[in-house]
Order: sequence, then C-alpha cells, then structure tokens
Amino acid sequence: MRQAPNIMLTGTPGVGKTTHCESLAERTGLRHISINQVVKDKGCHEGWNEEYQSWIVDEDKLLDAIEKEVHCGGCIIDWHACDLFPRSWLDLVVVLRVDSSTLFDRLTGRNYAEAKLQENLDSEIMEVLLQEARDAFDEAIVIELTSNTADELESNVDRIEAWIKQWKLDNAS
Ligand code: ADP
Ligand code: MG
Repeated sequence: MRQAPNIMLTGTPGVGKTTHCESLAERTGLRHISINQVVKDKGCHEGWNEEYQSWIVDEDKLLDAIEKEVHCGGCIIDWHACDLFPRSWLDLVVVLRVDSSTLFDRLTGRNYAEAKLQENLDSEIMEVLLQEARDAFDEAIVIELTSNTADELESNVDRIEAWIKQWKLDNAS
C-alpha cells in the first residue's frame, strides 16, 4: 500500500505540465518525475529522432527505470503520454488543456519546427491525450483541467493539493 498517491500530469507539449508539477512538488513534498529527464539520464531510448527532435523512447526500459520509485508512491509523473503506464501505478490522471491560440503562442516561443508545431496544435484540438487517458484508465480517475492563465494554474494546483490531502485521509492505515 502506498503512503502517498501517484499522480500523472499529461497533455500536449506546452499545456503546462512541468510548471504544474514543479509547483505541486514544492507545495506537497511529492516527487516530480520528469519522464524527459529520466529518458535522457538513464538512456531509456533507441536514439534521437531528428525530424521530431525527440528521443525514441524504449518503453520497457523506461518502466523498469522508474518502477521502484513509483512503487513507493508520492510521484508526480510529467509526460505527454500516459497509456504505457500500468493502471495499478496511478491514482489520478490529470489532463491539462489549453486554447489553441494560447498553445500556438507558447510553442512558437519554443521555436518549434513548423511540422511539429502543427502536429501538436492538431493533437490538442482533437483531444488526443484526453482520449488516450480515458481509454487507458478508469474514467473516475481522469480529470481535465484548463491551463490558459496564471489564475487557472493556481486553482489547479490548489485543487490537486486538496485531492492529495483527501487521498491521504482516505487511505490512512
Ligand atoms: P509542458 O511541460 O506541458 O510542455 P510547460 O510547463 O513547460 O509545459 O509550460 C509551457 C509554457 O507555458 C511555459 O513558458 C510556462 O511558463 C507557460 N505556462 C504553463 N502553464 C501556464 C498557465 N496556466 N498560465 C500561463 N502560462 C503558463
Ligand atoms: Mg514539460
């Protein structure tokens, strides 16, 4: 039994996953696991994809690399995909959403190549990550939150922090 819940923050690149995770980790003491960082640091990949400017992730290696830590509970997992994680690992899956004009501005700021920019905008409009989360996990643990403004960021963090407190009360042994 975990002493603290495991939470996944997912969504299209640029929605605010890392920003939310860092704030949550600071506020709650839960550990931020940036999958990008793990893939890079622990070599959980089969090389670099030039076109997408991203690692070709070896999912088995990645799961092995974080299994022990996740097993202890108290992890906030930060990544743009969720369906590779076993259902039993996660207590809450938060899908962050933004308006396309906001996402456009954020991704342009990152100097994304045109093709990658368009692909991410399409993905957000088509709700790809939300659907992936709903297909992979029990609908009761999947929540959708908007992340357009600093106020929304603040209220999302408040809400997830309150959820964590409640989880701990409900699961106290
Ligand atoms: P992700 O990890 O999902 O790719 P980031 O957390 O890196 O996204 O956020 C992308 C950019 O958007 C950053 O510049 C961040 O400061 C900004 N940002 C994220 N969430 C919000 C928000 N709710 N309101 C305003 N700006 C935000
Ligand atoms: Mg990020």
